Amino acid sequence: MAITKTGFMRGIQCPKMLWLDKHKPSLKVIPPEVQERMDEGNDFGDEAMAMFGPYEEMTIYKPGTTIPDKEAMVAKTKEHLAKGTNVICEAAFMNYSNYCALDILRKTDSGYDIYEVKNSSEVHDQHIKDVAFQYYIVSRCKIKIDRIFIVIHGPDEENRFVPVEVTEEVKKLYNWIDNNIWRLNRIQKESEELDIAPGEQCNEPYECWYYGYCHTEEKEEEKEQEQIQML
Ligand code: SF4
Repeated sequence: MAITKTGFMRGIQCPKMLWLDKHKPSLKVIPPEVQERMDEGNDFGDEAMAMFGPYEEMTIYKPGTTIPDKEAMVAKTKEHLAKGTNVICEAAFMNYSNYCALDILRKTDSGYDIYEVKNSSEVHDQHIKDVAFQYYIVSRCKIKIDRIFIVIHGPDEENRFVPVEVTEEVKKLYNWIDNNIWRLNRIQKESEELDIAPGEQCNEPYECWYYGYCHTEEKEEEKEQEQIQML
C-alpha cells in the first residue's frame, strides 16, 4: 500500500483522514457544493491541457471503470519521454509504488518544467506542498526539472491561465516530503483506527469528509464521560 499525492495531502491535514480513506472509506460524506467545486476544478484542468498548444494525454482507465490504470499510465509516460514529446499531460510517475500524475510536463532545452493547475485565483500554501510531492516523485524517477509553476485563474477569458513560478519554494520542501512520505505510509498501514481528537484540522485547509463521523464519535465519548461522572 503506497501513497498518492491526494493521500499525502490528506494525511498531512490529518493522519486519521488518510487512515479512514484506506480502511473505512464508506464513512466519507462529500457535500454537494464540494463535489461541484471538484468537478469545476477538473474542467478547468482539462481546458488548461491545451494552454501550450498540441499535447499528449497519458490518462488510461482500467477497463469498464473510471479508475486510472497507474501502471499503464506510467508506461505510456515513459514512451513519450523517450520519444521527446513536448507537452505531456497527466504524466504519471511511480517511485517505490508512491505515485503522482502531473497536470502538464513541458519539455525545455535541458529538462522539463512542471505546471500544476489549480482552480483558484491565488496560490495557497497547500498548492506548494501538493506540487512539492510531485517534484519529489519525479526527481526520484531521475527526471531533471528546471522550473515549477502553479497555474491559477486569470482575470478574464483572454488571460484564462496564469502560471505563477514557485520553483524555489517547492524545491526547499524536498526533505520535508521525504520525512513525511514514509511516516504517512506507515500510518495508513496500521491495523487499529487512529485515536486523534477533532480540532482545527477538521476544517483547515479543507472541511474533512469524515466530519460527521468523528464529531458524532466525540459526542458519544462526552456522553459516556458524563454518565461515568454521574455514577
Ligand atoms: S474529522 Fe477531523 S479528526 Fe476526523 S478525520 Fe477529519 S480531520 Fe481528522
